[in-house]
Amino acid sequence: MISSVRVLGSSLNYCHIIHNDQYALVIDPGESEPVLDWLALHHLHLTHILITHHHLDHVQGINGLKLNFPNTIVIASSCSQIAHDIKLQHHETFLVNWLNSHITCLHIPGHTIDHCAYLYQNAAFVGDTLFSLGCGQNFEGSFETMLNSINLIKSLNDQTMIYFAHEYTKKNLLFTLSLTDSPILEKYLEHIPSKTVPSSLAFEKEHNLFLQCDNPILWKQLSKKLGPISNMLECFTKLRLAKNRF
Ligand SMILES: [Zn+2]
Repeated sequence: MISSVRVLGSSLNYCHIIHNDQYALVIDPGESEPVLDWLALHHLHLTHILITHHHLDHVQGINGLKLNFPNTIVIASSCSQIAHDIKLQHHETFLVNWLNSHITCLHIPGHTIDHCAYLYQNAAFVGDTLFSLGCGQNFEGSFETMLNSINLIKSLNDQTMIYFAHEYTKKNLLFTLSLTDSPILEKYLEHIPSKTVPSSLAFEKEHNLFLQCDNPILWKQLSKKLGPISNMLECFTKLRLAKNRF
């Protein structure tokens, strides 16, 4: 089972929790208290903490969780500078015994150099790289690095459920509608839920502009507002810069 707990109210962060009826592992605990409360409510023992990247709003809860569950194993990308017990290379997997399943790490640099995603069954935990109808900012990587990482996520199975780390969907939806016409998204805006995680990759491929940067029809559409676009990287760069200003 996967549950998503709100942490750090003002920054709309999610901490995702994979669990059975005894054990749990958490991804990106930006804060410990709400996660500890949730674990206590469900009588679960924490075994692992997975970190997608080093930003404080994804790691600040580690110490509080380890105080309560001292044997918890902290896992991060092999590029990470945060204190961790296991570091994972690109495509490296590790076994979680109580899940009876492997989790795979994908390195997806761009938002930060150490950013990685975790794949578990049909779920992808993508941190701040991809959001519903949007993507993260490339703080530590070039536009090309970020685009390559987003395209790696795009190459996953269409049935993949995307667990992103911030509830930015409504703002991303307004951004999308400011650049393109979409009756489906206009309807979605009327009834958008307060919690939109997870989203399917199929939905994102159809509606998230950042996953359509290889589409010349979109280049033509966007060029009316963003200036001429003649390739995928130019499309991504102009979209990302426009989103920064939005
Ligand atoms: Zn971040």
